[in-house]
Amino acid sequence: MEIILTGTGTPIPDPNRAGPSTLVKAGDTQILVDAGRSVVMRLAGAATGPPALDAVLITHLHSDHVCALNDVITTHWVMSQEQATLRIFGPVGTEEFVRRQMHALEPDIAYRTEHHNFLEHGPQLAVTDLEPGDTFSINDVMVSTAATEHSPVKPTIGFRLEHDGSIAALVGDTLPCDGVDELARDADAYVQTALRRDILEPIPVQGVQDILEYHSGVVDAAQTAARVGAMRLVLTHMVPAPQPADYPDWIAHAAAHFDGEVIIGDDLTSVTI
Ligand SMILES: [Zn+2]
Ligand SMILES: [Zn+2]
Repeated sequence: MEIILTGTGTPIPDPNRAGPSTLVKAGDTQILVDAGRSVVMRLAGAATGPPALDAVLITHLHSDHVCALNDVITTHWVMSQEQATLRIFGPVGTEEFVRRQMHALEPDIAYRTEHHNFLEHGPQLAVTDLEPGDTFSINDVMVSTAATEHSPVKPTIGFRLEHDGSIAALVGDTLPCDGVDELARDADAYVQTALRRDILEPIPVQGVQDILEYHSGVVDAAQTAARVGAMRLVLTHMVPAPQPADYPDWIAHAAAHFDGEVIIGDDLTSVTI
């Protein structure tokens, strides 16, 4: 299994970090988790694209995680010449979110179906709302879900992908919780969005203090990784976004609590498990 970070950014625009999303390649199967800003460009950087996706999994409907889903849908539709159905899974509310996206795309769909002979109808989508605890397979990849803790954002879910003896946990924005422990237990790679409490806590800005309430800190993530016996901790969606010179300090904060490998994600960082 190969995990490619197709976006390690946050809502704050960053020229080097696309919005949060992660591509998992497992055998011939490609699964995208979340669809943040510029994900389609980063998929191109990973030598793939929406037509190659077997499924899109959504952790939650915060805009930074889904703002480029319409680009994934439209590009999948046009590039596959409407021959393929794009499967989208997410927490309850995802079906409605996608339905509204499709309303927004109605003019474009009308222009393109009128202009291109190869398009007779709009995007072919199969959207499934998931409950925590749901399990399903995408080709030969087993996917399990659990509730995460990102309150007041509800519902939120994380994913555990198992293929050929390898386990990847991709849990999105969340505080440490039982659901994350369940998903990341014995994982070969545990991918966690994370912030630095020690840097952010002294900043007297309400918006900064708000984000501390519902995200894992680096120390939290490292403690989770150690508690559940994960082999690697992959940090993404980092606040504040670190520069490469900061990486050793970030790794040191995690390594104080976790003996395994700690990877600070850049866009297109690839982790093979
Ligand atoms: Zn969020
Ligand atoms: Zn986020």
